[in-house]
Parts: sequence; C-alpha cells; structure tokens
Amino acid sequence: MLFPPHWRQFAPMTRPQIAASDAVALNAMLMAVRQGADVVCDRWSLSLIIAAFLGDTKFAEFERRTGIASRLATMRLRTLVEQGIMVRLPYSIRPLRHEYRLTIMGEAFRAVVIQMVRWERNWNGAVMPGDMVAQLCGARLEPVMRCRACGAVVTARDISLKVSRSDLAQKPVKQALHRRSIISESPDGSGLQHFHESLDVFGDKWGIEILVCAFTGIRRFNDFRTCTDISANILSDRLGRLTEARLLRNPDGPGEPGYRLTAKGFDAYGVLVALQDWSDNWLSQRYRSPVKLIHEKCGQLFHVAGPDAELDAREPDNPKKSIART
Ligand SMILES: [Zn+2]
Repeated sequence: MLFPPHWRQFAPMTRPQIAASDAVALNAMLMAVRQGADVVCDRWSLSLIIAAFLGDTKFAEFERRTGIASRLATMRLRTLVEQGIMVRLPYSIRPLRHEYRLTIMGEAFRAVVIQMVRWERNWNGAVMPGDMVAQLCGARLEPVMRCRACGAVVTARDISLKVSRSDLAQKPVKQALHRRSIISESPDGSGLQHFHESLDVFGDKWGIEILVCAFTGIRRFNDFRTCTDISANILSDRLGRLTEARLLRNPDGPGEPGYRLTAKGFDAYGVLVALQDWSDNWLSQRYRSPVKLIHEKCGQLFHVAGPDAELDAREPDNPKKSIART
C-alpha cells in the first residue's frame, strides 16, 4: 500500500478510548452516527448536498453536476426539503420556477463535506480547482482536523469518548427509521469526480456503520454482524468493498483473523466525527447522543473546527497553506 508523505502523522494507530466490550456504549455511538447517516448518507442525497455547496441551485444544474436521473432528483430534493436541509424557493413568477438552497441546517453540513475533501485529498490526491475550494471552504482547506475550542490539530488518538449513563438509561437503543441502503452505481456526471470515493464510502450507511464498529475495536465478521444487524450477504459485500478500497485490511493470518483499519480507514475518522457532530446538533430532537467527544489536551467538548477566520487570526504565520499545497 502506498502512503502519502504525511502518513506518519497517524501513527501510532490507536483508537478512541472506548472498551470494545462495552456493547451499550458502542451501540450508543452507532446510534449517534446512524441517525445522521439515515438522513443524508445515500449516494444521491450526498451528491445533491455537495452540489449545493458548489453553488448549484437549479434543478438542471444539479442534474448536470451529479448525473442523477430527473425522477430520482425530484424525489431526493423533496426529501432534503422535508428533512430541513434544503428549502425550495421561487426565483421566477412567470413562468413559475423554483430553486433549492441550503438551510442553516444544511449549511452546517459543510464541516462534513470539508472532512471528505480533506480525506479525498490525503488519500486519492484529488486536488480541486481553487474556485471549487473557495466555494466550499472560503479558500481555506487544511489537510488536518482541528479542535474548535482550542484550534489545535487533532487526530483520533487525542479524543476520548464520554458516555452519559443517564442519557443511555433513558433512551431506546434500537432505532426504527428506515434501514434500507442501496448501492447505486457511480454517476456518469463527472462534476463530482473530486468526491468519487467519498460518495462510494460515505454515501452508504452500512459502510459507515462498519467503520464505526471498526473504530471501536470490532474485528470479526460475526461481531460486525451482531452490532450492526446487517444481513450476512450485505455485510460480506460491504466488508469486501471497504477492503478493496483499502480502508480495511484482512490479513487473515493465523492467530487473529479479522478486519482492521488501515491508515486510510483510520483517517476517515474526521468525516465520522463531523457527521456525529452535525447529527447531534440538528437531529437531537430525534435522539440525543449519550456519547460526547472530549479533546483531552484542552479538556473541552470536541467539535470539528470550520474554515472560519478565527483560526487564521490564531495562526498569522500560517495563513495560506491551504490551496497551494499538493
Ligand atoms: Zn481542544
């Protein structure tokens, strides 16, 4: 496997401090990520949201950029409006025409998209044109994840999980939202080629659940199966896809057969954390996650920092390491 030059920043490979045996805590964390994944993580919803961040507002623009079929676009956009992520507004009275814009809730998803951009660039060398980066991040894109409270660069090993037992006790741990996930073939619209692998990996809620389990130390097929409730054939398919995409590896040697996160899989942590963060903030009326992320060095609740001006001010010597890199 080829590592990019900065791969060492991820070593030693450790994971969040959650006991693998603590099935309740694991289930709680799964729930937290799952409720976000249920809302946004299918390939087409994710494609439309990313397209909106890139400036598309009109139906034809979404179609062109994502390669989505008209009927599917109508359905998915309607769902995104119902979920509160987009709003449909008239922009012409005669003839009556509508456009779609991100709401505040949709806008808050930017942190997740930025983590995808970061991940794609780190592992697939997907270098976006400057105008796309500017549209997404205000011309600032770092190859690292930062703590919003203190501005420090963090990796998964700097973050610990705190589970609120009282929240756990009060809440049901299984969820009854629709649990369907269909892998769609890659769109032929090439407007999202910089998100090619993100759409494969994060546009599939089962894949996301498997990654969450892997982060908490799950290794074996049957353990993945127990904690996700995914049917054996789908689980087998998704483990195969994640292995092929090199987020997991399966050495399958003597002693300890099982799936392990690669450095690339480990780096997907930023996307999952941002997704959990977004879910907690915007979907908490459905389920408030009992899992809190703590940045150990500053002791504050961990949230992924957005690309805002405050961080620029904090690092005057380092204002533009963004687009020019790679
Ligand atoms: Zn911090």
